[in-house]
Amino acid sequence: MVCKACGHINQDNMAKFCSACGSELQQDTQNNVYQQNVTPQPPPQYVPNYLIFSILTAIFCCLPIGIAAIIKSSQVDKKIALGLYDEAITASRQAKTLNILSAVIAAVFTVFYLIIIVIASVGI
Ligand SMILES: [Zn+2]
Repeated sequence: MVCKACGHINQDNMAKFCSACGSELQQDTQNNVYQQNVTPQPPPQYVPNYLIFSILTAIFCCLPIGIAAIIKSSQVDKKIALGLYDEAITASRQAKTLNILSAVIAAVFTVFYLIIIVIASVGI
């Protein structure tokens, strides 16, 4: 029990008066409950933001999808800073999905492009 008047820590939690200054001690149950509820946040798991991947996607694959991925990537760190770990993980997953989608589209276009070049050079 900490005395609010002088800050003396009274060993007896049920004491009505401070043993140092004699002022009345208030059983601050609300404060105790509050302190119990504020459990320290578990250390956040590592949430990859895929920002480099997103930038590469925007440059080399599809610009619109790459930009969307960059936005999602930048949200990951913002959410972590705000302690919104669930939302950070969601944004991280979305950035990853956009990057994979973009890579698949780029791969498909590359294959079509190569086929067209081959067909053109063979001269069908
Ligand atoms: Zn006191």
